[in-house]
Amino acid sequence: MISNPGLFESGDEGGWIRLSSLRHYTYCPRSWALIERECVFDENVFTQRGRKVHERVELAEPETRDGVRSERSLPIWSQQLGLYGVADVVEFHDNRILTVEYKLSSRDREREGELVQLAGQVLCLEEMFECEIQTGAIYHYGSRERSHIEIDDRLRARVREIVAAIRGQRARPQLPAAPADRRCRGCSLVTTCMPQLFGGKRRRVWDQRRAELFHPPDEPGLA
Ligand code: SF4
Repeated sequence: MISNPGLFESGDEGGWIRLSSLRHYTYCPRSWALIERECVFDENVFTQRGRKVHERVELAEPETRDGVRSERSLPIWSQQLGLYGVADVVEFHDNRILTVEYKLSSRDREREGELVQLAGQVLCLEEMFECEIQTGAIYHYGSRERSHIEIDDRLRARVREIVAAIRGQRARPQLPAAPADRRCRGCSLVTTCMPQLFGGKRRRVWDQRRAELFHPPDEPGLA
């Protein structure tokens, strides 16, 4: 296992990307930007419930049962991808490692963002423990069910795609567009985001104004 690179205190600075950012960006790039760049984190009933679930996982002690060691809230990272975060539960079996992410969502409603985050965890663990991992798992807290997810080439490519997209977005002053679609209904950031106000033409005007404020054009004659 490689040593902790010591960058966990530095947030997303220096090119490091939180694993949770993969989920946020996949759901809506604007929500990722509001959280990471504007430091907005409004809660709604879904985020509150999710936080409670993770708090319960964090409070549980590591254990060994039937020869399987379960570590909770394990810091993980990938230096190659610049990813870091905390895995809810990582199980160490005789011949394999299984990361288990706790989610509120039901088994029939796994969201792409959750799968991409899980694949990001697997890529971190593969690099840390120099091994190959075929599957990860999501534990659906509501139904107390565990689904095993194959971490295939498509999911691995999606992680790399989202990592590149986040790095690209960091270089731009504008917030990503507000899609103003059904995703906004369950989004805790809707009050701050104001997707109806900043979608479409109004958004483009605002983004232009914002870009001018933070990156004013050079004034002629003031060299
Ligand atoms: S309210 Fe809609 S546009 Fe705004 S961050 Fe949430 S999902 Fe994205």
